[in-house]
Amino acid sequence: MTTNKDLPRIVPVGELTSYPPVDRWDDWTEYDAKAWPERVENHYRLIPTTCFNCESACGLLAYVDKDSGEIQRFEGNPEHPGSRGRNCAKGPATINQVHDPERILYPLRRVGERGSGEWERVSWEEALTDIGSRMGKAIREDRNDEIMYHVGRPGEDGFMDRTLKAWGVDGHNSHTNICSSGARVGYAMWSGYDRPSADFANARFILLLSAHLETGHYFNPHAQRIMEAKQAGAKIATVDPRLSNTASMSDYWLSCWPGTEPAMLLAIARLLLEWDAIDHEFMERWVNWKDSLAQRYPGRPQTYREFVEVLKEEYSGYTPEWATTECGLQPGQIEEVARHIAAAGHAFSSHTWRSVGSGNLHGWQGARTLQFLHVLTGSVGTKGGLSPSGWVKFKPQHWNMPPPHSRWNELLWPKEYPLAYHEMSILLPHFLKEERAKLDVYFTRVYNPIWTNPDGFTWLEMLKDEDKVGLHVALTPTWSETAWFADYVLPMGVSAERHDTHSYETHANSWLGFRQPVLRVAAERDGRTVERTYETNPGEVWEETEFWIDLSWRIDPDGSLGIRKWFESPNDPSRPVSVDEYYGWMFENSVPGLPEKASALSLTPLEYMRRFGAVEVEKDVYEVNVRPVADVEVDGDGIARCDGAPVGIAIGDEVVQGFKSPSRKLEWYSATMDDWGWHDEAIPGYQRSHVYWRDMDIAGNERILLPIFRLPTLIHTRSGNAKYLYEISHGHPLWINANDAEALGFETADLVRIETESGHFVMRAWATEGIRPGVVAASHHLGRWRLEDKTGNERWSSALVNVEEIDDGKWRLRQLKGIEPFTSDDPDSERIWWRDPGVNQNLAFPVHPDPISGMHAWHQRVKLVPAQPGDRYGDVVVDTNKSHEIYKEWLSMTKPAPGPGNLRRPLWLDRPVKPTPDAYRYTD
Ligand code: SF4
Repeated sequence: MTTNKDLPRIVPVGELTSYPPVDRWDDWTEYDAKAWPERVENHYRLIPTTCFNCESACGLLAYVDKDSGEIQRFEGNPEHPGSRGRNCAKGPATINQVHDPERILYPLRRVGERGSGEWERVSWEEALTDIGSRMGKAIREDRNDEIMYHVGRPGEDGFMDRTLKAWGVDGHNSHTNICSSGARVGYAMWSGYDRPSADFANARFILLLSAHLETGHYFNPHAQRIMEAKQAGAKIATVDPRLSNTASMSDYWLSCWPGTEPAMLLAIARLLLEWDAIDHEFMERWVNWKDSLAQRYPGRPQTYREFVEVLKEEYSGYTPEWATTECGLQPGQIEEVARHIAAAGHAFSSHTWRSVGSGNLHGWQGARTLQFLHVLTGSVGTKGGLSPSGWVKFKPQHWNMPPPHSRWNELLWPKEYPLAYHEMSILLPHFLKEERAKLDVYFTRVYNPIWTNPDGFTWLEMLKDEDKVGLHVALTPTWSETAWFADYVLPMGVSAERHDTHSYETHANSWLGFRQPVLRVAAERDGRTVERTYETNPGEVWEETEFWIDLSWRIDPDGSLGIRKWFESPNDPSRPVSVDEYYGWMFENSVPGLPEKASALSLTPLEYMRRFGAVEVEKDVYEVNVRPVADVEVDGDGIARCDGAPVGIAIGDEVVQGFKSPSRKLEWYSATMDDWGWHDEAIPGYQRSHVYWRDMDIAGNERILLPIFRLPTLIHTRSGNAKYLYEISHGHPLWINANDAEALGFETADLVRIETESGHFVMRAWATEGIRPGVVAASHHLGRWRLEDKTGNERWSSALVNVEEIDDGKWRLRQLKGIEPFTSDDPDSERIWWRDPGVNQNLAFPVHPDPISGMHAWHQRVKLVPAQPGDRYGDVVVDTNKSHEIYKEWLSMTKPAPGPGNLRRPLWLDRPVKPTPDAYRYTD
């Protein structure tokens, strides 16, 4: 029988069958469907930009109507190497964000009490002058650490790094320790690279560990390549306590107890060792086995064969039988998956990002033990295997880069967390509560910590207190729970309204994308001169790139602080650098091959990027570790250095690039972890989670709550303005296994009170077979709220609520009404038929910072009880005094700096806006 697989391919894998050819993008004609049977032509200018609705940065094509000058819709950009013309639902929904009738169109300044919701419209000039002069004063008074930039979704690479260096401010804060610090530490301790890049399309076996994998992180570029592999015969296993969309499409669903995943992975490692399904040539050459033996097993023979024996001994207890019980799996599953991995060899690919790494105490061992399987099988940097992300993520140079500063901000990099992969952002309100410091100017950029972070009422307390936060400036494309507590709300553009560059590890090729304000580009093609992007965006919506340039000018108007010089135009120092000058320099000088590609089409590199939206920089990036390096000096340890900095390693007669770890090899044993007090954790291992199932009263009413799975159609907090997406996704049930529901007396739609360590919340049960017994789950999307009826958050998605401090530090959020139709310029707002806004469960989670990675361990031990008298759907009650006590309990697990050499942090570990080495040392 002929199957689809046997049919001849009409188009090569990965290419669309039909899309507008690029040479017709300036005048693309379509017939007006509504005018049928008349043949009425519509003419569009198609302008590429980049989606901003998740990190993947897929290409979009804006269809700009040539008659009205408005954006009519968004489709995929076929010229984009990562997404190849495809998008998920969130890409085309950008059109909702552009035309959202509730969007913030002008800069606003608070006039009443902070949080009272009284605003006045101000000009950009007023806002810039006020904020800039306040920052200039702080810097003049050497209060640089009182300035903080806190980013949720950056969407750009390097621009803010440059800006903060120019200011001399160690104030970069991120969302990473509610997101991926756990996985980053697991990967970085092997290779120095903190992210993986899976070559899914060429894999023969794919192992996914995920709470939401491939429905969120690199969703579309990964998903399309996983499907290609599947079509070519690859098998897929998904590890997730919940039957996610990905698990349901997989060949194997492994529903581990949360936090036990490393035990399963080490059992697989044990089997690979037992079967000798090991790439010994790779291991002997690329694993730091000599250091491992010398430092951890000095009394044993110092040979590679002995190292393999050590591995067998270390993991001898991880039998498949033991791991099957420990993880709660079906007998035989572990062996079957291990056999596939052994058979796939170099074509074994995997991914983990949030999931185990972001759910659990010691969750970083998830990535550490997963990478171990790649090291054993030699599937590192291979076709169909797993590479470090840094090999494919292309980072162009930025124009006129300032040198690093020599400051160290203890609010972000506190002594208790010397190995934390990113800033300890979740602890900021607790540090301010302890009066460790205060903030004078605090920027939140596309970030909504009151809603997104754990312990949101503690954030609310912090933001209301003007002694702790002098000025809060929210840069945001939408209203948010956090923006409500700002002093300035500054409207920033969505993907079609701003400039930036980005590159991600979507596959084995390296590329650079360019986001651009499409109406500005259209205006300039029509011959208009545009000085600032807000002249062409809706209202006075601006973009961050120009905002930061102009703000920097206001911080130092006369240049006396030495800041202004970094932002002066290279052609006319009396004015700020323009975006054309800035990105024109980047594309001309730091993107290999781009000038030649542009010149072949008689374009400048900037014109090329404006025309195509992206450029491929390198194809088939594999085995970068064996690339030769030249003009280096090799030290006694075999490390090749250039100007003192490690750049490679001597192996045999060759000097090659290697990895970025201190040994330039893959570090099974991490001397860094050992030196900083974590001896047991220095090798891939398994430590029990804070939600270890045997420690819990599962026979009673205690359960493990998974609060972090994503829906493929929503975007953290930013999709509240996308009506298409909310029409698809608007329910927010508590997933509970049908057996558990029966045992606890719940039926679907019953109200359940979910008790956490610091409070409780109330939602409705959904009895399902799609989750393992003992575990309950609720998506981390949904639960948006607003404090005023007609503003403060989009009514497509939010509940009107009352927030009250019912006792000292005890807060209650109660929904007054759910989602309802409303009247606006968009007639669809009167057609809203969905009602459930969901529940802001994160408010009731105290902080759980892992003592090594700093990652917030999101999973919760909860008790499920029927709703109590007076409880209502959506109620959230929290005691912030209790949550502060829990913060202190977790703080007591840390092993503070200084480490060796009186260091605050190992010098080799990456961090954003890395200061000079002297800043790493305590001076007292
Ligand atoms: S995966 Fe979807 S949301 Fe993410 S960038 Fe691509 S189209 Fe946008």
